[in-house]
Amino acid sequence: MTELHEPQFALHVEDLTVTYGAAPALWDIDLDVPPGVMAAIVGPNGSGKSTLLKTVLGLVPPVAGHIRLFGQPLAAMRKRVGYVPQRSSVDWDFPTDVRDVVMMGLYGQIGWFRRPGPAHRTRAMEALTAVGMQDYADRQISQLSGGQQQRVFIARALVQDADVYFLDEPMAGVDRPTEDIIIALLQSLRDQGKTVIVVHHDLTTVERYFDWLVMLNTRIIAQGPVTDVYTPENLRATYGHRVALVKV
Ligand code: ADP
Ligand code: MG
Repeated sequence: MTELHEPQFALHVEDLTVTYGAAPALWDIDLDVPPGVMAAIVGPNGSGKSTLLKTVLGLVPPVAGHIRLFGQPLAAMRKRVGYVPQRSSVDWDFPTDVRDVVMMGLYGQIGWFRRPGPAHRTRAMEALTAVGMQDYADRQISQLSGGQQQRVFIARALVQDADVYFLDEPMAGVDRPTEDIIIALLQSLRDQGKTVIVVHHDLTTVERYFDWLVMLNTRIIAQGPVTDVYTPENLRATYGHRVALVKV
């Protein structure tokens, strides 16, 4: 009965602690992200942002805690979740062409042992067109620039038609036109009612791009609507003296 009255968060995290060795990467995290927002996760280097995404996606085991996506455990939601990992964590020399990278986003629907059909190929081309990469379908992923690789990974997430998207620093190291394309796509996903959760490295664009904000430094410092949470006090608590670099 009680579940019926709980608000249905896109992401609900409770008492989450993650350690790689002795030191905790995440300490007793409680987090709720409502559906239909575009949320930024910010914090200094090493503050646990990537670890948080990887743990939510089941790629890193927690020491303790409880994670729900739309009220369900990940196992029940895997096909409804899109993920774009941090670019530096991907082996870009892997010999694959651009179309195949995008098609990988469809395997949740196709199944690993069935062949993709023409409809799947069309979906992949539509997603490549959405990111302006339709002319690169036959190129090797290793031959693309960083910004082009990032667009291809966004296309791979797009074909999944997920309910919630997690992206780890998708705008890091990309040129301005690519950043504009990525932001427009993510905002249009949000406008369709999807939930978009982005690890973001650039504090100067937080207010412009996002409507929800999570400030992290091993612990949760603050979370909520950007207009409430993006304050000098919270920035200082998250970044310490480095906040002097940021204009608020
Ligand atoms: P962020 O994404 O905010 O930069 P990370 O989640 O990558 O932070 O890392 C958080 C902490 O965990 C850092 O101190 C980092 O050195 C450590 N860490 C991350 N991944 C590993 C790993 N695979 N093994 C050991 N320590 C790790
Ligand atoms: Mg990271």
